[in-house]
Order: sequence, then structure tokens, then C-alpha cells
Amino acid sequence: MNQPDKTADYRKHESIIKFASADKQEGPGIFFVVSGPSGVGKNTLLNFALNKVKGIYYLPSLTTRPLRPTESQGNPYFFVSVEEFENMIRENMFLEWKKIHNGNYYGTHLPTILYALENGFDLATDMDVLGCQDVRQRFPDNVVSIFIAPPSIEELAQRLSKRDKDPELAKQRLARVEMEMSHMPNYHYVVINDELERAGDKLAEIFRHHRLHRQVPLLKKG
Ligand code: ADP
Ligand code: 5GP
Repeated sequence: MNQPDKTADYRKHESIIKFASADKQEGPGIFFVVSGPSGVGKNTLLNFALNKVKGIYYLPSLTTRPLRPTESQGNPYFFVSVEEFENMIRENMFLEWKKIHNGNYYGTHLPTILYALENGFDLATDMDVLGCQDVRQRFPDNVVSIFIAPPSIEELAQRLSKRDKDPELAKQRLARVEMEMSHMPNYHYVVINDELERAGDKLAEIFRHHRLHRQVPLLKKG
């Protein structure tokens, strides 16, 4: 997988990703957006598929939530203070931003997206369903949206409690599941994350398909 530049200065109106010219495609870049309830396996599947399909860059969002022990700067987020995030809102640095779990901010870095889509580089990221709605409106011809669904709510609750040891964190995330699942019909694709290999291969196949058929107008919905 293309690793993000951990030293990138996300406060500048410049891309936080250093793109290699070899990955430049003919035609506009594609923005693959993956949504689904927290704990369903979005980051796990993205890692799996991006390791199989070379040339797509993972776009880390920015957040004010605390990092988990398995996370680091740029992976899967740039972790910033509330003050920094609010300054960046004022500077129009976000394509969209939302306050999600426990009032934490999450936002996507606009200068990176503009640079990538204009210059023929492909991006992938995960985003909540409301953020994805905003992105589809802004870039209807560039976005391919994929909803990751759990095999069951019970399995989702188990994955969440395995990952977030604090039951309060898992509870906050489960509270949004119904709202998130109600947006599933708005997506171009739905992938059920039952078996990691099977679901990861399906996501990789979606990536390959759209990269191969770039000149064909992307499916528009809504
Ligand atoms: P998200 O990014 O959607 O919040 P994660 O990728 O962090 O979710 O996955 C949540 C937890 O579920 C992790 O502990 C991960 O290892 C586990 N997980 C992901 N996919 C599967 C799967 N297919 N089967 C079992 N566990 C999974
Ligand atoms: P978590 O705290 O469990 O990593 O993620 C919380 C939620 O925020 C997930 O649904 C994730 O997809 C979403 N998210 C991550 N980055 C962004 C972003 O930049 N914008 C929006 N709107 N949601 C995001």
C-alpha cells in the first residue's frame, strides 16, 4: 500500500500525499469512498485491497479523536488538536467535516483531493455516510462509493468490543449503526464483510474494474 507522508504539513494548501509520476493515469482521478458502521472492517478491507491493487493512494482523514494503541500519525488519520482543526475549517481546508463519536471532528483534506483528481491520481478513504453524501454531490463524476455491511449486528457488536476495550466507546459506535445502515441503498456497491479474504477480493475487484474502465462515465446516482 502507498504509505502517507507522515511529515506532511496538512495546514498548507498543498497535497499531503507525495504522488509518484508512474501512478499518474490518463484522465481524471477516481475517488473510492468506503463507508459502513464503525467496526465493520473498513480499514482492514482497505488495507487488504490496496495491497493487492497497486497505484491507489490511501487518503488519511484528519481527526481530533485520541489515537488507538495500533495507530500512528498518518495511519489511518492525522491526529490534530481541536484548535488546529477549527483553524483549518476557517481556512476552507476540508472538502467536508463532521462531528461524529463523542463530538470528535473528522474531515477530508480538500487540497489533496483537488490535486489528485485534477492530475489523474486515484485515492481511497473511509468516511461516514453523511460525509460520503457531500462528496458525491461535489464530485459526482469521480466518486465510486462502496458500503461495507456486517454479516449481522451481533457479529458487528463482537468486532467492536474486541477492538474497543472500553465498553462506552463500543456503545457510542453502535448507537449510529441504524442511521448508517439506512444509507446503504445510496451506494454504487455493497460488500458484506463476512470472510476477510472474500470481501477484500471483492473490494479489490471493484478498484480494478473502475481503473480499467476510466474513460467510461462513472455510474451516477441520486
Ligand atoms: P472499521 O475501520 O470499520 O472501524 P476495523 O477495520 O478497525 O473497522 O475492524 C474492526 C475489527 O474487526 C478489527 O479488530 C478487525 O481485525 C476485525 N475484522 C475486520 N474484518 C473482519 C472479518 N472479516 N472477520 C473477523 N474480524 C474482522
Ligand atoms: P473511528 O473513530 O471508529 O475511526 O471512525 C469513526 C467514523 O468516522 C467512521 O464511520 C469513519 O468512516 C468516519 N470518518 C473517518 N474519516 C472521516 C472523514 O474525513 N469525514 C467523515 N465525514 N467521516 C469520517
